[in-house]
Amino acid sequence: RDFDDAGLHPVMRENVRLCDYKVPTPIQAYCIPSILLGNDIVACAQTGSGKTAAYLIPILSKLMGKARQVAANRPNPLTYNSTTDRVRAEPLVLIVCPTRELACQIFDEARRLCYRTMLRPCVVYGGAPSRNQREELEKGCDVLIATPGRLCDFMNKTNLLSLARLKFTVIDEADEMLQDDWEETMSKIFGGGDANEDADHMYLMFSATFPKTARELARQYMSQDYVRIR
Ligand code: AMP
Repeated sequence: RDFDDAGLHPVMRENVRLCDYKVPTPIQAYCIPSILLGNDIVACAQTGSGKTAAYLIPILSKLMGKARQVAANRPNPLTYNSTTDRVRAEPLVLIVCPTRELACQIFDEARRLCYRTMLRPCVVYGGAPSRNQREELEKGCDVLIATPGRLCDFMNKTNLLSLARLKFTVIDEADEMLQDDWEETMSKIFGGGDANEDADHMYLMFSATFPKTARELARQYMSQDYVRIR
């Protein structure tokens, strides 16, 4: 009921205060404790409900304990050689959403909530040249926000982006994406890397409606005791 007694990392608590969020919205009141406990989640939520912060706040709070180590493991952009060195961007969090507008909104919120965390968010989306997005990824990326098509383009460039270290996968507006023939692409994204074999890996799905394709995706990839939030 209150951000103060949610058990958030102190830096996240401060960032929530800087965002001027005083009281959790209903979706946040249910999602934050459940995600902090490590549950997979399927949540019914509309835009405007505060759903972005409902997953970003607990995910970033959980990662904060490891933030220094995460930052230290990032390749140094000044000495990196793309032909001989290991992959550049190995995000711990992947947020997939259907449109460029939504991706940019999520990125804005992620930037505010990542303030002083040492975690670096990046956004990639179609309909814009990929050069700037590539340059941002090359600087390192801990939280990647992406639309599915551009994500697949970057996933094919194996020395730039790897999903092998993912700890959290969030599917935002799942129904919109599955409507647009992204079903096969989504399976590729979820099947990519070792994510679904890693017991620690958490899946979170947010959607206004739950068509059969979304339920199937949840059944296939999420732990079978996932928590449903309406
Ligand atoms: P969303 O549903 O994630 O698109 O969020 C809708 C808007 O609500 C965004 O502008 C958020 O910054 C804002 N917001 C999210 N959580 C809260 C909160 N607890 N109190 C006030 N505003 C919030």
